[in-house]
Amino acid sequence: MIHLNGKSLALERREALAQRVTAQLALAGRPPGLSVILVGDDPASATYVRSKERAAAKVGIDGQVIRLAESVSQDEVLATLRGLAEDPSVDGILVQLPLPHHLDEQAVLDAVPAHKDVDGFHAFNTGLLFQQRPPFVPCTPLGITHILDAYEIDVQGKNALVIGRSQIVGRPMAELLLQRHATVTIAHSRTRDLETLLGQADVVVAAVGRPEMIVASQLKPGCILIDVGINRVDGKLVGDIRWEGLEAVAAAATPVPGGVGPMTIAMLLENSVLAWQRHCNLP
Ligand code: NAD
Repeated sequence: MIHLNGKSLALERREALAQRVTAQLALAGRPPGLSVILVGDDPASATYVRSKERAAAKVGIDGQVIRLAESVSQDEVLATLRGLAEDPSVDGILVQLPLPHHLDEQAVLDAVPAHKDVDGFHAFNTGLLFQQRPPFVPCTPLGITHILDAYEIDVQGKNALVIGRSQIVGRPMAELLLQRHATVTIAHSRTRDLETLLGQADVVVAAVGRPEMIVASQLKPGCILIDVGINRVDGKLVGDIRWEGLEAVAAAATPVPGGVGPMTIAMLLENSVLAWQRHCNLP
């Protein structure tokens, strides 16, 4: 079984990106700017934001984290977003999810202007993605397509099963696999017979968030496994797919950690640099 090493691939891409930023800095007259809004003090979100901040600095992106109190009002969040939308030194804006329950997540995401929407969650960018006119593609599914490309995995004509139908992972992932001519099935919480679907799938993308819910005995021999799930169990990170026993069944799999996660961050940086290039009319 090939271990699809997202960590080393992400490092390569970040190094290439850093070189691109250095090469174009003089022409742009300013570095790429990325603003991240973090609301509240969820420890997992704080950790993700710190990783994004560190990674941005390493490639020469001017990263700024705006920390807002858990009790912040909807109006205050929207006012903060308006300020960032108008700030010409800010190329990309990211709102770290999830938001506290009293905030309207969709309204907040809608307030990120489409041309600064480096997460690709804005309705305009979602629409363009489904019209096959790549705008900002959501980072996790985009990272997965680069993992497939790096390992020369062609999904054309294959049965691809995406488990999970969220706006940020499952749905855009299914669309990208469809664009690559896979025969795509989306499974979700109300799917009746996941077992049968797993047994037929040549490619499985698991994006549920249930620790090790999929095991080797359910899988089709020779399958490709992409594990998006990040679950903390007894202080350890595990995916949605149990790693034990996979070697004998799967052709390739992404580990957790070290698979999809690092590529998601690399794609956020790439989207931010793309926004900068567009805003500064760089080639
Ligand atoms: P979500 O909670 O929005 O969606 C989960 C999906 O799983 C839902 O569509 C639901 O219908 C489906 N589901 C629930 N129970 C199911 C079941 N028994 N069978 C089949 N489907 C079921 O989550 P999300 O934001 O899409 O994230 C999914 C997982 O991926 C989480 O663990 C999250 O932490 C992780 N994640 C990882 C990265 C990364 O970079 N590695 C990025 C985003 C999310």
